[in-house]
Amino acid sequence: MASIGHVLVGLALARAHHTVTSSTSTSTPAQRPAGRRVVGALAFPMLAMLPDLDVVAFKLGIPYAAEFGHRGASHSVVAALTIGLCAAPIIARWLRVPLLPTAVAAALAVLSHGPLDMLTDGGLGVAALWPLTAPGISSRGSLCRSHR
Ligand SMILES: [Zn+2]
Repeated sequence: MASIGHVLVGLALARAHHTVTSSTSTSTPAQRPAGRRVVGALAFPMLAMLPDLDVVAFKLGIPYAAEFGHRGASHSVVAALTIGLCAAPIIARWLRVPLLPTAVAAALAVLSHGPLDMLTDGGLGVAALWPLTAPGISSRGSLCRSHR
């Protein structure tokens, strides 16, 4: 049920994106086909949950603590910005809204994932700063006391 937080952040970003783009786009939300409105409402929650697709690493035999294991590189700032900025043009084109607010909302949606995971006490922490590492210092962090 930890995904509820990710979905709620994504929905909040979808709402904010809708508010911002409604005043700047050439079509009003009511003029957009229903399918486009649904995509607009679901795109940001899906982006907020996207880093957890790394659970396929378990099926591939990649250890949890590996760079590309669960909560590894996929939960980093670098990955969040890359994914968000790659998804933004697709979303903006689909919704026919400006790119800049879409890029900001998309990047924030993916970027929110790592810090929310860091608030949990499960797992080995989050590799938020991947690929930056230092000898003797774990690249994974957590905001929970049990991991310190
Ligand atoms: Zn996660």
